[in-house]
Amino acid sequence: QWGALQDQLSSTIGENNYKTWIKPIEFSGIEPGGVAVFNVPTNFIGSYVSQNYGDLLLAKLSMLDADVRRLKFQVANMDARPAQPRPAPAAAPTPPTNDLLPGAPLDARFTFDSFVVGKPNELAHAAAKRVGEGGQVTFNPLFLYGGVGLGKTHLMHAIAWELRTHRPDLNVLYLSAEQFMYRFVQALRERRMMDFKELFRSVDVLMVDDVQFIAGKDSTQEEFFHTFNALVDQNKQIIISADRAPDEIKDLENRIRSRLQSGLVVDLHPTDYELRLGILQSKVQNYREQYPSLQLDDGILEFLAHRISTNVRVLEGALTRLFAFASLVGQPITMELTQDCLSDVLRASDRKISIEEIQRKVAEHYHIRLSDLIGPKRVRNFARPRQVAMYLCKQLTARSLPEIGRRFGGRDHTTVMHGVKRIEELRSQDSQIADDIELLRRALEA
Ligand code: ADP
Ligand code: MG
Repeated sequence: QWGALQDQLSSTIGENNYKTWIKPIEFSGIEPGGVAVFNVPTNFIGSYVSQNYGDLLLAKLSMLDADVRRLKFQVANMDARPAQPRPAPAAAPTPPTNDLLPGAPLDARFTFDSFVVGKPNELAHAAAKRVGEGGQVTFNPLFLYGGVGLGKTHLMHAIAWELRTHRPDLNVLYLSAEQFMYRFVQALRERRMMDFKELFRSVDVLMVDDVQFIAGKDSTQEEFFHTFNALVDQNKQIIISADRAPDEIKDLENRIRSRLQSGLVVDLHPTDYELRLGILQSKVQNYREQYPSLQLDDGILEFLAHRISTNVRVLEGALTRLFAFASLVGQPITMELTQDCLSDVLRASDRKISIEEIQRKVAEHYHIRLSDLIGPKRVRNFARPRQVAMYLCKQLTARSLPEIGRRFGGRDHTTVMHGVKRIEELRSQDSQIADDIELLRRALEA
């Protein structure tokens, strides 16, 4: 299997890289705990491979054997092997030893190909695509933010994969802010700050996921700030994600906040119905390739796209469960089966946010009375918040337009539709409205 994998690697990273780095190493076996062990002729080759091709190796290996979690490179006496080309050790800088090498494995499923683009994520997708091309650094950092399960990690991995393929010469490092902190603390403890700094400053593209994690962690922030500056000074691309906008992250030093804002800040909006449907359809299509006999009643995907929350992870989980259940009982997937199998998920999304809750929050936010929000007056001071509330009802609940209309003082469904459309337009033109909606949404979903 290692032979087959080597062949694949050779075509992915190019003949030359392959000869220099991969050919000299030898797969030795898998240790308990899912540690894939490689024999390497020198420490230097080991650290280079781990740093530059570690994620790729890990991803490929874990496709062959799902248990593989980590890689280990050990210097072994490889005399039995034919002589290998080696980089001249004298010219190489003293390599930092292995366990400090950062980087988290990339998920093989998180590619641009599998990312479904819709209104709520098109900007983020376009920006990520651009960075993935690995051309000139035009915005630095790229800051992606949005709620849980909206595709931030997916996009970051997709960028990394893309760079791997198109720019194998670039040294790309992806890790979570938590891992960054962990490495940092470890380096401090082991008095290896020089190694740590050298490592992080030697990357060409740095991606740090979930940066909100380091808020309030002072010395980690400090180190992050220095790393960040050093890389930006060298015109190296940085990509950051967080669950909220830079100015909403509490306990973050101001200089870091402003650094984070200095590039391109894009958010992933909560999914809308169309995007959810698109995602479900693409998952079903993948599934069909494996199980051509899959039977699925029409309308089930639409039902799920309507009923399940904005979080894509939950949506995917529901679909997987449905497939598993259906194949277990050997029945076609009908509406009854769906409701049976997913009753808890559906209940949870039902109970989620009510129209009253939205109305209350919106009235509060705009300092108007609930009765004015729902009532007949058409003055702008009431009409705009009313439209915002309708929009949120459409986005966050599974209620139909006529039903929403009824709950707003018996208005017609076309009035609701018009309101929703209006806010959709305004949202992209009027940043005040966009901010209001974002705030309200977070408050409601909290
Ligand atoms: P986040 O990091 O924002 O919390 P993830 O990137 O982990 O979210 O996404 C959660 C799950 O949803 C992943 O399995 C991801 O593949 C999937 N997902 C999210 N957005 C999309 C999309 N637009 N198209 C396809 N899958 C998506
Ligand atoms: Mg994530």
